[in-house]
Amino acid sequence: MRLAPLALGGAAALWVGYAWGAHAMTLAATWRGPALGRRIALTFDDGPDPTWTPRIAEALAARGVRATFFLVGRRAHGHPRAVRAIVDAGHEIASHGWSHRSLWFCGPRRTADEVLRTQDRLAELTGTAPRFFRPPWGMVNAALFGVLRRAGLSCVFWSVQPEGLRAQAPEAQTAHVLARAHAGAIVDLHDADGVPGAPERLAAALPAMIDGLRDRGYTLTTVGDLLASA
Ligand SMILES: [Zn+2]
Repeated sequence: MRLAPLALGGAAALWVGYAWGAHAMTLAATWRGPALGRRIALTFDDGPDPTWTPRIAEALAARGVRATFFLVGRRAHGHPRAVRAIVDAGHEIASHGWSHRSLWFCGPRRTADEVLRTQDRLAELTGTAPRFFRPPWGMVNAALFGVLRRAGLSCVFWSVQPEGLRAQAPEAQTAHVLARAHAGAIVDLHDADGVPGAPERLAAALPAMIDGLRDRGYTLTTVGDLLASA
């Protein structure tokens, strides 16, 4: 009678180590770039959205801004033209996993599949394998970091996030970013639905956000360029 709870306890302890303990490893991941030169990277998660992503990529290009798009592999596979629009506008492509499933609930094999399938498909679509990976929901596990190393990927989080799990009005998003902007900031934005309506709100917020950051003396760049200046 005592074995079952013990076995369950053992499995729970393993999972705690695998999914919770792995978060200690995120301390070694990238949360911000170097504070040299007042540079900031705008990053866009969860796309491509066939309607909003090309619009946002163009709005950025019209203002001469290059940014980084963390794409969901399955969405990229379904919307190759939207991926092309990002690349053609001069932006950087990065990986956000295949299905946007939280890695907290993925074993080692599924974790590798989420990362490597996305890597292969994005390399096929763009001609270049991504160098940066952002875990969906910011959740990791102990298997992830070895997979990333083997795939030549660095794990990148963010230092400023104007909209998390709850919708925020465009003006509130712009105010949040301008209040928390810092040299080397990595700003996390969403060009596709996670929270419903996210891309519409972002498209409305973006012009004032970009202009406000530039007024404060910041140069906007990609994650790759921001980290290369380290
Ligand atoms: Zn996401």
